[in-house]
Amino acid sequence: ANAVPKDLPSLKKNIFLFFVFCFALPAYPAEKIQVVSNGDLKGFYRTRIYNNIKYFSLKDISDICSGSVNWYKISGKVVLTINTRHITFYFKSKDVSIDSNKYTLPFPTYMVSSDLYIPLDFFLSIKFTEASGQKVEYDQEQNILSFESSVNVFPPRVYSYDGFTQVNFEMSEKLSYDIQKKAKNDYQVVFFRGKTVSDKLYFQNDHIKNISISNAHNQAICRFKLADDKLEIKPSFLENPLRLTLDIYPPGIKTSTAGAEGVNVEASTIPIAAPQPKQEEPKPQENASVHSMPTKALTIVVDAGHGGDDPGAVGPNNTREKDINLAIAKEVAKLLSQDGYKIILTRQDDTFIPLVDRTQTANNNNADFFVSIHCNASLKRKEQGFEIYFLSENATDPDALAVAARENEVVKYEGKPTTKKEKLQILQWSMVMNEYMNESSELCSYITDDVTSRINTKNRGIKQAGFYVLRGAQMPAVLVECAFLSNPSEEIKLHTRKFQKDMADSIYTGIKKYIFKKNLDR
Ligand SMILES: [Zn+2]
Repeated sequence: ANAVPKDLPSLKKNIFLFFVFCFALPAYPAEKIQVVSNGDLKGFYRTRIYNNIKYFSLKDISDICSGSVNWYKISGKVVLTINTRHITFYFKSKDVSIDSNKYTLPFPTYMVSSDLYIPLDFFLSIKFTEASGQKVEYDQEQNILSFESSVNVFPPRVYSYDGFTQVNFEMSEKLSYDIQKKAKNDYQVVFFRGKTVSDKLYFQNDHIKNISISNAHNQAICRFKLADDKLEIKPSFLENPLRLTLDIYPPGIKTSTAGAEGVNVEASTIPIAAPQPKQEEPKPQENASVHSMPTKALTIVVDAGHGGDDPGAVGPNNTREKDINLAIAKEVAKLLSQDGYKIILTRQDDTFIPLVDRTQTANNNNADFFVSIHCNASLKRKEQGFEIYFLSENATDPDALAVAARENEVVKYEGKPTTKKEKLQILQWSMVMNEYMNESSELCSYITDDVTSRINTKNRGIKQAGFYVLRGAQMPAVLVECAFLSNPSEEIKLHTRKFQKDMADSIYTGIKKYIFKKNLDR
């Protein structure tokens, strides 16, 4: 125990408590700790000492920080969600991920009585503060653990809707703000007394591009560019959760908050929790069986689009998309596995794999990235160039919509979703995907940058559309359209070993840059 008893009564009390806990759980003596949150006494909680290290309960942290805990017993992990951030712990492991970034705990976690215990030091770290918005301090002498909200504005989330774009800033308290025009199309939103976690969203659609947020003197400032100076910005303050939304739309368009009909209204007014996998409480025993432990090496799923009965696009000289996709995918897999990553190819040969199975493979293997490789096609023979996508239920532009429609063709899908349930389900998927939107968009930007510097091709940009194959991926996921099979000269190019290798090199380099930037290699 750390606290030295100062007087006899407290010594007696400590001895008494010591014996009580010794008989209850002989291996893990516990100590009471006083928890203070934003200056108010929250109550008494227990820490546990294990191998001389102080541990704190995940359930208690979740309670104190108003978070939620989800257990994934099969994959041996527990996800703590605070506001929109996910912190993933693994059973009896030092691994921890915050969103998609990986870190190492000073000591492994352990389980007692259907709760996971985490070394207290982790909660005192800057990493936890950045993720949770809570600054946690431990006063060893007084045995007080104090929590103070340090982040009150969370990085923006962007949602594309039909005809308009919505930017959401969740807040933990009401702040006054000011929207300022800095230059033609350049705007900033200043949150007074705002504190945030610096972040950047690589994003571009018809309305907005590249949004970043950072801290200035006692203010959080979000900067963004409008795609066009005729666009209008309509701010609204909403509750549950508390947030500022900016609807960005061309003049004359009704936006969700202005009361448009249909699914958009639901998006902005009904709080919908992202679907959580079934919660499974582990049995109250310490050696709960763990079926798969996280591996040290990053796992990357490389998906060669189409296959078997589904040829994908077919070129004017009968080149089948599925064959080119497989050649490039194998090349990417080879490059990545040379660096020691665990690579899973969704198909190794000309086999038909349903779209849903492809992301399922990635989820089941706790993959860190999902990259789907395709070739483009258009009715216009002259269309050419490279595009890269991340998921949104609403396409960036009509061309992007057409690309998604073509790639989704393999799935029997009759018309637009009609029932409310179907609409809700689609919304929920888009919310799941939004959890990894920033990461996916950033991965897109690294791959695109490398393609433009390595390959002489037209860069058609980073786009969003509703690809079924990306739906439900619980990791950053992107879809690459290497070039147009429908364009006779690009069809020839796609056949060449050089183009296939160059494209694979770019995808590989983009992933490597992302891994380096996020410090994911250990
Ligand atoms: Zn395809």
